[in-house]
Amino acid sequence: MQARRLCVHLALAAAVALPAAAQQAPAPPPAAVTLIQNVRIFDGKSAQLSGPSHVLVRGNRIERISAAPIAADRRADTVVIDGGGRTLMPGLIDAHWHVMLVRPTPVAAITNDPSYTSLVAGVEATDTLMRGFTTVRDMGGPSFPLKRAIDEGLVAGPRIYPSGAMISITGGHGDFRQMFELPRQVGGPPTRTEQVGGSMIADSPDEVRMRVREQLMLGASQVKLTAGGGVASPHSPLDVSTFTLEELRAAVEAASNWGTYVATHAYTPAAIARAIEAGVQSIEHAHLMDEATARLIAEKGVWLSTQTFPEDMGQAFPPGSDERSKFEEVLAGTDTTFTLARKYKVKTAWGTDILFSAALAKRHGALLASMARWYTPAEVLKMATSDNAQLLALSGRRNPYPGKLGVVEEGALADLLLVDGNPLQDINLVADPARNFLVIMKDGKVHKNLLTSAAR
Ligand SMILES: [Zn+2]
Repeated sequence: MQARRLCVHLALAAAVALPAAAQQAPAPPPAAVTLIQNVRIFDGKSAQLSGPSHVLVRGNRIERISAAPIAADRRADTVVIDGGGRTLMPGLIDAHWHVMLVRPTPVAAITNDPSYTSLVAGVEATDTLMRGFTTVRDMGGPSFPLKRAIDEGLVAGPRIYPSGAMISITGGHGDFRQMFELPRQVGGPPTRTEQVGGSMIADSPDEVRMRVREQLMLGASQVKLTAGGGVASPHSPLDVSTFTLEELRAAVEAASNWGTYVATHAYTPAAIARAIEAGVQSIEHAHLMDEATARLIAEKGVWLSTQTFPEDMGQAFPPGSDERSKFEEVLAGTDTTFTLARKYKVKTAWGTDILFSAALAKRHGALLASMARWYTPAEVLKMATSDNAQLLALSGRRNPYPGKLGVVEEGALADLLLVDGNPLQDINLVADPARNFLVIMKDGKVHKNLLTSAAR
């Protein structure tokens, strides 16, 4: 009796200690098998396609790649796809995405009920996957519930590497308060963006540590701080450096104790240099960087995660507003940034940072294709697959999807696109995914297949 009571207590204690996700973990699905015949492979790295090949996917991994035909599994649920000599490539990765902020306006993102925001984001996540983006690194926003729903198979969407709330100083990029909300009472109630998990304000090394650790507890795979001013926030001039060196170091220490890294939003040479001095591993944007900064980023082996913004993105901000003129300043720096990144062979990741526009999200692939202004098609696709995957791997033990991403290799996670044509010759194929991506597979599951199954 005594022993049984003790067991019950232990079981209860264990149940309370377990996170909710673990208590309700669904049974793993049976290992589906897909045989993709007769394709030429862009493996995520090489500038050339392979010869005719056959690829066997079992469960969520690529099991075998062979130049010789692979015998079809005689299981009833084996899907056989005749690639017809088309191109098989890794699923695309967007290294700077905001799953919760693609569709709402800035005001809606703050004022809407978070449940509604999540539902809208879920629909957008499905569209994101159907554009061929099988993984995103989320650089700010309360994406944890949506990530969970996607991972559980409730919503179709990309893998999400979540940062959770981005962390800002008072008045920095991410402080969306109105002036009448000042002064903030120390220890007082959270601001609206803190309540919804969009951004957190921290004004000392201790506060930074606490906010970083909160995001890590929520499941952040990396941490995002804003080290300088930003376009979309109302109170931060672009030229400012925000967190002190000690504050940035506190974040880096807390993240590295947790086995992962810090990424910082930073446009200017001063903000970038301070972030690098503190041990930040990924600089986001850097559109105002100079020659010395590019050299520094290269020397330190830090990642530059950047993008080309479309000109009409500025329409999210009212004409004549500060935000609009900040956007134009950033836009003007883009060419220099990519030119310097190439010149100094900076480790460069690519992400769009699409915000507040469903229309712009439809041009996701076109934004990738526009990188051909600075890079060859093979370099563009390598950046959006295997290079971006290297950046994701910095999450180390906090990587939510351990395994190889961004490559077509035996043993890699099976995120695959079948492209109707050769994107190494015509990068614009990726701009029209509805038409040109005939098959979209994520984690071994076929989410789109416009080809009829071949006879087995
Ligand atoms: Zn961003």
